[in-house]
Amino acid sequence: MRCLNDMGEFGFIDRLARIIPSTPTVIEGIGDDCAVLRVGERLVLVSTDMFIEDVHFRREGVSPRDIGWKAASACLSDIAAMGGAPMYCLTSLACSGDETAVFLEEIYRGMLSAMSRFGVVIVGGDTTRSSRGIIIDVIAVGEAIGGHFLRRRGAKVGDVLVVTGALGGSSAGLHALTHGISCEELVQAHMYPNPRILEGQWLCAHDSIHAMIDISDGLCQDAGHLAKAVRLGMDLHPERLPVTPALEKYCAEHGLDPVHLMLTGGEDYELLFAADAKTVEKTMEAFHHEFRLPTTVIGAVTDEWTGVRVNGQVPSLGGFDHFKPQDPGAS
Ligand SMILES: [Mg+2]
Repeated sequence: MRCLNDMGEFGFIDRLARIIPSTPTVIEGIGDDCAVLRVGERLVLVSTDMFIEDVHFRREGVSPRDIGWKAASACLSDIAAMGGAPMYCLTSLACSGDETAVFLEEIYRGMLSAMSRFGVVIVGGDTTRSSRGIIIDVIAVGEAIGGHFLRRRGAKVGDVLVVTGALGGSSAGLHALTHGISCEELVQAHMYPNPRILEGQWLCAHDSIHAMIDISDGLCQDAGHLAKAVRLGMDLHPERLPVTPALEKYCAEHGLDPVHLMLTGGEDYELLFAADAKTVEKTMEAFHHEFRLPTTVIGAVTDEWTGVRVNGQVPSLGGFDHFKPQDPGAS
């Protein structure tokens, strides 16, 4: 019998999707960044994200407030990925019981500061005992503004792939934390991601954007999700990837390959979208004018293959899967 280590996280999700029934009010079920549900006249977006000690975070080198911020931001980023407006969160916490009340309260303060920037409030949750360490689960509830949202499905042949901000900073920050190296900017990128909520809403309001996802598992893996949704190919151009001076310097000093980190490093929580090639320059200019945040064309959509390639070549390492590495989006 196949176990999760053989089939991978995404193989298991595909398997679950086949046995879980749907209803007509479920507009999008399993397989996108959020579920999209019809409630009366409105389309409600719901997403959940777990954050587990020694899997997603370690206590060393970070504060409980950092942990809370990151757990909340990661979940809100899924609402951003569909261009929605987050409204409420439910937060559940499991812990071993020997943590101080102040420590746990600080986690909640971190979550609250990440949420309050978008007017999001915590409306409930659960607390329970864990056999080991802290487990945080955040459920975000939001709305598709005017009934519009962007799916992972929708990229067209000839579209270009565009990414917001910079990549690779989070995984370099994790490297710094793990090795006890001081590098404030990259550790900040790892612990304090900014969910691109307003940027996602802006992109969603533009017809020339056809599909979108947030980069949580790494560019290759997440581009693979866009590819798989439409059974097309994504060609990534690493020479175009937006590298920051801090990442370049850190990688040079510690023998790391910045391109590898930008292609496969997770948790940058930037947006990756497929855009009409004819209008993309104008769209990017208007986007920059609005947000002062860079966007970069880093690839293109093709029907010459399915899945992700890097300059036409199959990459050797995909990105983050909780159970195994796999060829991203190939089918
Ligand atoms: Mg996501």
